[in-house]
Amino acid sequence: MVVKKHQPGHLCMMKWLLLILAIIFRPYEIQAWGFYGHRAVNKFACFALPPEMFGFYKSNIDYLINHSVDPDKRRHSDPAEAPRHFIDADHYGENPFDTLPIYWKDAVEKFTEDTLQAYGIGPWYINKMFYRLVEAFRKNDPDAILYYSANIGHYIADSHVPLHCTENYNGQMTNQHGIHGLWESRLPELFATNYDYFMGRCQYIDKIQPFIWSAVHDSYAALDSVLAFEKLLTESTESDEKYSFEQRGSTTIQVYSYDFSEQFHLILNGQVERRLQASIIDVASIWYTAWVEAGMPVLNPWTVIEDEKVEVGGEDFH
Ligand SMILES: [Zn+2]
Repeated sequence: MVVKKHQPGHLCMMKWLLLILAIIFRPYEIQAWGFYGHRAVNKFACFALPPEMFGFYKSNIDYLINHSVDPDKRRHSDPAEAPRHFIDADHYGENPFDTLPIYWKDAVEKFTEDTLQAYGIGPWYINKMFYRLVEAFRKNDPDAILYYSANIGHYIADSHVPLHCTENYNGQMTNQHGIHGLWESRLPELFATNYDYFMGRCQYIDKIQPFIWSAVHDSYAALDSVLAFEKLLTESTESDEKYSFEQRGSTTIQVYSYDFSEQFHLILNGQVERRLQASIIDVASIWYTAWVEAGMPVLNPWTVIEDEKVEVGGEDFH
């Protein structure tokens, strides 16, 4: 049978074909913590600050929340941006933390800058941003303080994501493609409204760069269970029960099913919540340490950079 160009049946088939192609080839974007997680980290970090900082940060909480995702947006336009969000620690051998120099200069000397850029510079870049934040506090420049606070919050949160420490960042080497988004976006979106985000008071950090490495070390230590548990769960799940379809605007997308996500969340036993909590307190501690290093300038709580309001993490604190 010859199928005519505008035959209704043909059109219908074309639509299905396009839908299937959209599902199969939907562009996958790596965004650590997804938008939800990054916004929650910057927001709740404000509540761990001492009173001398809290007024200014609370007045500008909308800015800090909204701009928490700017570094991910920049990845589309700035080729230098991507390596700042991760470090493929396992590229550096069995015990990468014995091999990787703590400080940037030593690392460049040992591995060359090209290699470091190729496998991620996250922990060293946070250190660089820290000194820019100290400088912003020294000048007591509210725009710069907020800009660097929002941005460093993003990079610190990224360093707490186990899948940001490995070459197998999306399970592509172990047939677990999509696990990145499952851990850092799907699980928080489904379950993080019940998390406890109030972490008490932040701490002064003696040595910033080793402190950042210890956060990365903890993320790396959690990586094994992330990959192993997903694999185990997949093996005990019927293939048609692992995924489901959801409508997002005019697009149908394939997502991990609610049941699969719930099971994974359960066997991770609070891991996602713990990494989010650690991100929050570490972001606040790094903001606070930068302020102390700058001589504890008086921050005016009435200086407000207006930004759009967003609700994050259930209860609204605006
Ligand atoms: Zn990122």
